[in-house]
Amino acid sequence: MPVFRLVPPVEPSAGQAAILRLKRMTPDWVLQCNRCGSRTSMTLVNGAEVRNGRIQGGTVILRHVCAECYKRGVTQFMLPDPPRLVKPPKPRRRKLKLVK
Ligand SMILES: [Zn+2]
Repeated sequence: MPVFRLVPPVEPSAGQAAILRLKRMTPDWVLQCNRCGSRTSMTLVNGAEVRNGRIQGGTVILRHVCAECYKRGVTQFMLPDPPRLVKPPKPRRRKLKLVK
């Protein structure tokens, strides 16, 4: 059976300290990739038209996707999935017995 012991916290290395410093500098509301840390997002639109010098219409295929990951062939969404509503389970019905 393994023996577990309490270990005092270790000073972070130079690389870990740099990562921690960057994390502290980044506010929560900045859109940032969870995979690579990039802040470049992109939206892919299919079928947009140029009318009177303006881009109009089109179908949005991907929205808020990390551009750096997309260049490497990975589609990484930068926004977390919205929380789903979880319904409480229905109460179980008992089988009714025929009364004679
Ligand atoms: Zn990324």
